Amino acid sequence: MPERTPLAYDPHGVELKWQRRWEERGTNRTDLKGAAHPFFNLMMFPYPSAEGLHVGNVFAFVGADIQGRFRRLAGDDVFEPLGFDAFGIHSENYALKVGTHPAELIPRNIERFRDQLQRIGLMADWRYEVQTTDPRYYKWTQWIFLQLYRAGLAVKRRAAVNWCPACKTVLANEQVIGGFCERHPDTRVEQRMLDQWFFTITRYTERLLDSLARADWSHSTKTIQANWIGRSEGAELVFETPGGKRIPVFTTRPDTVFGATYLVLAPEHPLVSDLTTAERRADVSAYRRTVAAMDLVTRKVGEKAKTGVFIGSYARNPATGASVPIWIADYVLMEYGTGAIMAVPGHDQRDFEFAVVMQLPIVRVVAGPGQTAGTPLAAAEPDVPGGRLVNSPGYDGVAWEEGKRAITQALAARGFATPTVNYRLHDWCISRQRYWGPPIPIIYCDGCGTVPVPERDLPVVLPALEDFRPDDSGVSPLARAASWYRVPCPSCGKPARRETDVSDTFLDSAWYFLRYPSADRDDVPFDRELTAKWLPVSSYIGGNEHAVLHLMYARFITMALKDLGFVPFDEPFARFRAHGTIVKDGAKMSKSRGNVVNPDRYVEQWGADTFRMYLMFLGPYQEGGDFRDAGISGIRRFLDKVWLLVDAVAAGPTTATRTAAAPELVRAMHRTTQKVTADTSSLAYNTAIAAMMEYVNTLRDGSPTSDLVEPLVVLLAPYAPHFAEECWERLGHTTSVMDASWPSFDPALAVAEEVEFVVQVNGKVRGRLRLARGTGQDAAVKAALADPAVRRFTDGKQPRKVIFVPDRLVNLVI
Ligand SMILES: [Zn+2]
Ligand SMILES: [Zn+2]
Repeated sequence: MPERTPLAYDPHGVELKWQRRWEERGTNRTDLKGAAHPFFNLMMFPYPSAEGLHVGNVFAFVGADIQGRFRRLAGDDVFEPLGFDAFGIHSENYALKVGTHPAELIPRNIERFRDQLQRIGLMADWRYEVQTTDPRYYKWTQWIFLQLYRAGLAVKRRAAVNWCPACKTVLANEQVIGGFCERHPDTRVEQRMLDQWFFTITRYTERLLDSLARADWSHSTKTIQANWIGRSEGAELVFETPGGKRIPVFTTRPDTVFGATYLVLAPEHPLVSDLTTAERRADVSAYRRTVAAMDLVTRKVGEKAKTGVFIGSYARNPATGASVPIWIADYVLMEYGTGAIMAVPGHDQRDFEFAVVMQLPIVRVVAGPGQTAGTPLAAAEPDVPGGRLVNSPGYDGVAWEEGKRAITQALAARGFATPTVNYRLHDWCISRQRYWGPPIPIIYCDGCGTVPVPERDLPVVLPALEDFRPDDSGVSPLARAASWYRVPCPSCGKPARRETDVSDTFLDSAWYFLRYPSADRDDVPFDRELTAKWLPVSSYIGGNEHAVLHLMYARFITMALKDLGFVPFDEPFARFRAHGTIVKDGAKMSKSRGNVVNPDRYVEQWGADTFRMYLMFLGPYQEGGDFRDAGISGIRRFLDKVWLLVDAVAAGPTTATRTAAAPELVRAMHRTTQKVTADTSSLAYNTAIAAMMEYVNTLRDGSPTSDLVEPLVVLLAPYAPHFAEECWERLGHTTSVMDASWPSFDPALAVAEEVEFVVQVNGKVRGRLRLARGTGQDAAVKAALADPAVRRFTDGKQPRKVIFVPDRLVNLVI
């Protein structure tokens, strides 16, 4: 027999070999039609930036890939598709910056991303890749728009919208962070009145909220989305003028009505003209003109100076019966609530600032512990923990939550209150006055009005436009593509014009998961049977930064398609888990800090498997961790140890594989399998890896046999797939390790074996304890001190010294 020298583990050779082999053998291909146990393993498809794959993407994808591979080994038919979310302002702004057309840039970026994704060893079935910028895809994005349009869920209306002067386009509310553009943190968002397309998501508000409560989603994600939908209970209260005009106001705090010392109407409120007295008319008209001019620019709320005018009339506070003055001010908008508010300066900051400037009365009506009705207010106190009502005759001393209910009831009985529910969620503005998106499939005809593009004419292909720069006009650059813009009316054939706005990128990503199983079909957006078979998505993993945008829009589109009869389910994602984030040296990774980790460099140096495991070992997957270069060599050493174990088993004499394994090693194998199974299925990847490391150290101390090492290789396969394939082959298998079965375990054997410890106090035997084999000194001492028999001799004192013999003896010296 020839001498055999063990080969060292060479990650690059191994990874290239298996990536090629997976491709040749179709290892990662899923038989969508024939699958008996479909498991749709979805990860959030990336935006293919020019920088290439970010380490945060790799972290997210590897964690999802481990889940998919685990489910496959456990017997499911796993479908793990990937694609690219390549339309949108990100791509377009970057293209403008570097002076390259996005149509040139994006395909290059996608190529690079796909290469990188293949290198990290994802189990992706690339036959079903989707690209949102592909007309074969966005044909169906436009088709969805048309279905919603027909159902009355897509409407065009003139509205005050958020306008970013830097992006030169409208933004969804979700893209405005504290008054600034999410993409331009130094640019204040303005308000403009523009004709915009909206999806009326508000018709689904309650359904979105109710069904969210039942969803198997990360708690954090559910909380963020529920807060965004923002259900608040309140009441519409009525303030009446002496002339009998009723002014309804919405408030979430009817308990504070005794502190309502004035009313504010939006300057456009229809009652303003009627209620303005003759002597105030000139001032009111002037102010209304000023605000009307501001409409097109901004009606900012916040730190700007408070302005407004008294209109000369009064209305009766329904609780106090007092006459309160009526003002108009630009901080009250017609779009919100009833266009009028009751001002409670004691407990609302904006009202407080206004009252100070206009010298209006400020009354405390809620007092916290240690405060009285007379405690002065230096600022508004909107939330008073443990607050009770004061200066509210009939309700003084009542907890404010209770007062809210009681006061609403009392006023309702007199016809001055209606309990109502309000939501923060607004309709979804989907028009963008930009170039890089799917054109909205609508045609305007002077004779026929708004005409949807017939489905047979889809897709409306985005015209090639050399100069795609947006301008300040509020009109999309597509208006400059004359031959595209002018089109015969589909109804009457006379000259007509195309809609020039493109749709929001969040519409592209609101349905991509429906497309994956049918990505090879051009005749339908999604095949009915495949959709029923593979969806809802079994497991979706992604970041919480998408809790209110993507994850809410995807749910809405799915619900709308369900109502229109296109899909048989309401919720698109059966299970969603938010992954954590990777920081570097305690700080968020960013270019400006210079602490961005380039994944290519690590894959190059260590190989994909070591890098995958290292990322997963940084901390709990759903929390994330701190990236430190120091730890990565530990993972490599672990893989080297496994390599040598496999080598020993593969090369050892045949009798070695037949020798019965030592009982404690068999127990360790069952224990490890149980732990890795539970931890992998619950995304606790870091502790699963720790358990495998411990097992490998145990095996190295004993004499490994193939029935101890083979299960380890399978447990490792989701984490280090190329490495596991190579080991599997070296152990004599000719099929992929991904076609093996996940090892089973016997729970009885998985329980750690118990041994008897003798407990001595000052050298004399005082008790005996049964503890798990391998119990450490600290745990053994703790157990000994807690034992009643031993406690009689220790008098509650801590030992001065301990003599510890593993698995045998604890001697406490008191
Ligand atoms: Zn912007
Ligand atoms: Zn027409």
